[in-house]
Amino acid sequence: MPENSSQMEFDTYIENAFIIDGSQNKSFKGALGICGDKTAYAGKPVICEAKEKINAKGCILSPGFIDIHGHSDFSIFMHPDASSRINQGVTTEAIGNCGLSAAPLYGQVWQRWHNRYAEKNFIINWREPEDFFERLIDRGTGINIAPLLGHTNLRTYIVDYNDTKLQGSNLEKFSRLADKYLQKGYFGISLGLAYPPGIFADETELRAIFTQLKKHNSLLSVHLRNESDFVEQSLLEILKLNEDFDVPVQISHLKAFGKKNAGKVDNLLSMIDRFSAESKSGINFDRYPYTAFCTDLDFILPQYLFEGGYAKAAQRLSDIKVKKEIAGYLKNKFSMDDASAIFISSTAKSKRKFLGKRLTDLTDKTDADFWIKIIDFLLEIKFKSDAVFFLWMKLI
Ligand SMILES: [Zn+2]
Repeated sequence: MPENSSQMEFDTYIENAFIIDGSQNKSFKGALGICGDKTAYAGKPVICEAKEKINAKGCILSPGFIDIHGHSDFSIFMHPDASSRINQGVTTEAIGNCGLSAAPLYGQVWQRWHNRYAEKNFIINWREPEDFFERLIDRGTGINIAPLLGHTNLRTYIVDYNDTKLQGSNLEKFSRLADKYLQKGYFGISLGLAYPPGIFADETELRAIFTQLKKHNSLLSVHLRNESDFVEQSLLEILKLNEDFDVPVQISHLKAFGKKNAGKVDNLLSMIDRFSAESKSGINFDRYPYTAFCTDLDFILPQYLFEGGYAKAAQRLSDIKVKKEIAGYLKNKFSMDDASAIFISSTAKSKRKFLGKRLTDLTDKTDADFWIKIIDFLLEIKFKSDAVFFLWMKLI
């Protein structure tokens, strides 16, 4: 029976819900009263006045979820209501993952994202975090945004996409930048060690990042250097840094892909358990709820091709000898079954007809030059394409 609390008044009263309050308390059937944007009451049903009453029979009521791994850095401006998040119960998204954040934007990272979004009629008119945040606040978002600072953005600021080891004055400048930007509202730094220019970061550079994170009591999020043949070594690289610096680590989308690597996931988990037992700051990981990953289509290419940037990669691939060599590499790495499991999810305007198509729809799969044609496609669109990869993947 409802308790007699006739003095209670809410804007919204939700009753008959199955409440999970997120505090690790046991779930219970009850009611919730909201005043303004705050929860004013949660407990047994009460007699009350409310502008709106919702019967949530058969539904679960819980605080919003935090999605620790999002990439809405730019797209949030086009979809500020974030309905794809809200509809999943996500009310906070961590953006700036895998080494790339929306600010600061200099060098090729600015050119790349500015050009890509200009095609979608969205003009990126900021460089610095303050201007990005201001524009975001002006736009207004349907969810809370928790920004990470991208390592790519920091590195590009100093040595662009070049395979330059950071040392001496460059290393000092890099540390100063990380220090400065970590005071602007970021809750951590993200690494994308599988992508250029993250692939060029050596241990000295990573230690400089961890030093700054320690100073600012911030978190490290990491897309590991390798998630397939060398996934164990790549995980160890980060676990050792967690051990040395005692900085909390979030390993992004932990997995092993490629059929022969499936057996590695148990070992990944025991490595995390082993290091976690001694770690004061904590080691966490997230995973996909599906068996595919989405990234740049050019991820199929050896990433060292991008040393110096995208124009440099195009220049290298325009040499027929290099192109043939890379086509041979692709043929070795991906079977035709793999190629038919890679779907184009975004691409340049001129190639929109290929949206949702498989790589094997781009050209005849019996064609001896199949991979040459795929490379030509990437060159034609200036590498502006994402793809969904249904490659053989073992999730944690
Ligand atoms: Zn990633």
